[in-house]
Amino acid sequence: MDAPVIIVGGGPVGLSLGLGLAHLGVRSTILETRPEPAPESRALVIWPRTLELLADWNALDALRAAGMWRSTLDIWSAESGERLIDVDFSNVADVLEYCGALLVPQSETERLLQELVRKSEHCELRTGCEATSLTQDAEGVTVVARGPSGEERLRAKYAVGCDGGHSIVRHAVGLTLEGVTYPGRAVLSDEILPTAHAFPSPRFSLARSSFVLGIEYAPSFWRVISLLPASVGDDDAIAPAARAQRLQRLFGENMATQTIWTNLFHIHRRHAQRFVVGRVALAGDAAHLNSPAGGQGMNAGIQDAANLAWKLAYALEEGTDAPALLASYDVERHEAIAGGVERYTDALTRFGINGFRWFGVVPLRILGRLLRGAGFQRKACRAAGMLGGRYTKSPFIDARHPLAGRRIDDLILPGGSRINRKRAGKAAIVAVGEVDIPEASASAITVIRLPLAPRHWHVKPPVALIVRPDGCVAIVVEKPTAVRISAALRKAFAGAKG
Ligand SMILES: Cc1cc2nc3c(=O)[nH]c(=O)nc-3n(C[C@H](O)[C@H](O)[C@H](O)COP(=O)(O)OP(=O)(O)OC[C@H]3O[C@@H](n4cnc5c(N)ncnc54)[C@H](O)[C@@H]3O)c2cc1C
Repeated sequence: MDAPVIIVGGGPVGLSLGLGLAHLGVRSTILETRPEPAPESRALVIWPRTLELLADWNALDALRAAGMWRSTLDIWSAESGERLIDVDFSNVADVLEYCGALLVPQSETERLLQELVRKSEHCELRTGCEATSLTQDAEGVTVVARGPSGEERLRAKYAVGCDGGHSIVRHAVGLTLEGVTYPGRAVLSDEILPTAHAFPSPRFSLARSSFVLGIEYAPSFWRVISLLPASVGDDDAIAPAARAQRLQRLFGENMATQTIWTNLFHIHRRHAQRFVVGRVALAGDAAHLNSPAGGQGMNAGIQDAANLAWKLAYALEEGTDAPALLASYDVERHEAIAGGVERYTDALTRFGINGFRWFGVVPLRILGRLLRGAGFQRKACRAAGMLGGRYTKSPFIDARHPLAGRRIDDLILPGGSRINRKRAGKAAIVAVGEVDIPEASASAITVIRLPLAPRHWHVKPPVALIVRPDGCVAIVVEKPTAVRISAALRKAFAGAKG
């Protein structure tokens, strides 16, 4: 074996998976065709759920230093200058450490993740190295790659296709991306504004012909996105006059901007029928293509990586039910993508392409009013921040309790630390009240003690929560005894010992 895991594709998802595995002490080899990270900005927003995963892998500080932090999600009308929507992430500060979204161009995210991967003794990143074929047998996976020193065969126990929408790994395991391509398209550009002009961001122009959104992602650097109905032709969409009109709608007349790059692209809602075939898994765009509306595509891919990393790490241990663990990645991430990300981005995309033409700003005004209530603010933070998903169909989650299958609330502990800081990206038992932890478990797993549980957990102490390395509650053990806790640990981690 060249490494236990081969990752094909060193985009944000492949690099995150490498870091996630390294955090659990597992070596991986990442093959990346490009000699240098792609220069285009693409994904801009990193949402709170992804931020806490990156923090687990010690990657957040570098990204925060390079990005623009937004603690609120405001939406301003470019026409009237009014703030239509105002969502403040501090409304969930009791359950979330990173109360905000980070704006970083994907080119920068990839560059920084590459730096971290290169520093890790567990990852080998081979750039300029293209995987050309993949086969698997009962013992492992063989990947043929073409690199600077010619063609070579690499062997691993498992392989993961993080090689984007045109994935050769997906092709090699006989899967395709199924779903729909929307009739509308998106035009995107990055623009530099003269420094003398300051506008609130993000700003929408809600004229009835089409919708234009501008997001400032670094001082004077703006992403401009327009969703177009099918009736607008490609040539008309990218004509200089159309671009000038979009900019005029956002920033007023005669704004002399400098265009860094621009692109017209189709919008998809597609995913592979399966995310795992034998010893091969798919993650990120290789597994699912999502609309850019809502900015969840890359985030969902990094969350795939977090779900998969610990399962691969545990699957490599002797005595673990490895096929069942990998199958649970398939079940859980399908539920998250089809039931969560696709529904959310679909609603935003349909509204963006057609909704304004029918309703103008009215729905946003109504939504803005509803969101003034604290309860709605929390709901909006959870939805936009990707904090609210739940796995209900996994064999390793006991979904009878409403907390199971959800991300653990990152509560503040007595003494000021937080649950996730204590867990540090590893499995843990959160024990509420007087819980007797079996000695063998106490030495193998972090135990976090809480005197009381928040009311919204609906638990009656004593109770023990089994939390996985990806921060998901697997099982809620009520009336916990040493025997019950040991059984729950075996169930949640497929018999893994480590
Ligand atoms: C214009 C645009 C705007 C977007 N905006 C947003 C946004 O605002 N928010 C958001 O969350 N998402 C956004 N996305 C989506 C986001 O960019 C993707 O979801 C994200 O890049 C997926 O990451 P990935 O690592 O799965 O795939 P990719 O970024 O596609 O990376 C795949 C990598 O694999 C490499 N590769 C491919 N084939 C091979 C091979 N055979 N061997 C070795 N290496 C290979 C490629 O060179 C590439 O580096 C946008 C996408 C586009 C195109």
